[in-house]
Amino acid sequence: MRILFFGAPGSGKGTQSKRIGKLFGLPHLSTGDMLREAKKNATPVGLEAAKYMDQGQLVPDEVMTGLIQERIGQKDCAEGFILDGFPRTLVQGQTLEEMFHSLKADLDRVIYLVIPVESVVLRLVGRRVCSQCGEEFHLDYKKPKQAGICDRCGGRLIQRPDDQEEKIRTRLRAYEIQTSPLIDFYEQRKLLKRIEATGEIEEITQKIQKALE
Ligand code: AMP
Repeated sequence: MRILFFGAPGSGKGTQSKRIGKLFGLPHLSTGDMLREAKKNATPVGLEAAKYMDQGQLVPDEVMTGLIQERIGQKDCAEGFILDGFPRTLVQGQTLEEMFHSLKADLDRVIYLVIPVESVVLRLVGRRVCSQCGEEFHLDYKKPKQAGICDRCGGRLIQRPDDQEEKIRTRLRAYEIQTSPLIDFYEQRKLLKRIEATGEIEEITQKIQKALE
């Protein structure tokens, strides 16, 4: 199964795609996580990407397509995978199609998580992530047991630089202008499945699971 998760920043793509990956036993490929890891390790890609990410802008297509092509080609992706955060532009969508074509594979489903803009800002401003393991928390909806400390590994919780309100607005603009044309792109290919993504995490996971059955 090759499944793509799509939606505005803060729609819950990361949380839901990770849960579905675990349930279906598929590798979870998040371009945001890959870039943050590359940035942490100060690789050439990471340093280049950081200039855009920290401002809330999209990283150039050629950097992204190289990254995802390399990852999809790895052995653990042979039986399928979950894509989270790619494609984010029409150029990336077209390149992905070409990649699938050369792998003689198909994309099975695009899960589009729909959420009102005002909820997005609230979700992102309150989000905190573990500086060590990347686990996500929220100041209101998913509080850690001890303030500022990760429940899973004891690491320090931080706010992502691009989760500051001004950067969130830049990200939402980038989504509207550069990413949202992909809704039509996948609708035309009859792959898009809309899921209302407000409510409890578990409830949304169940809706997605049902849509994939
Ligand atoms: P995310 O964790 O998916 O919210 O991604 C965080 C940031 O990484 C985005 O705001 C972009 O700067 C960058 N990024 C992740 N995926 C892509 C992509 N497919 N194309 C361009 N930039 C991306």
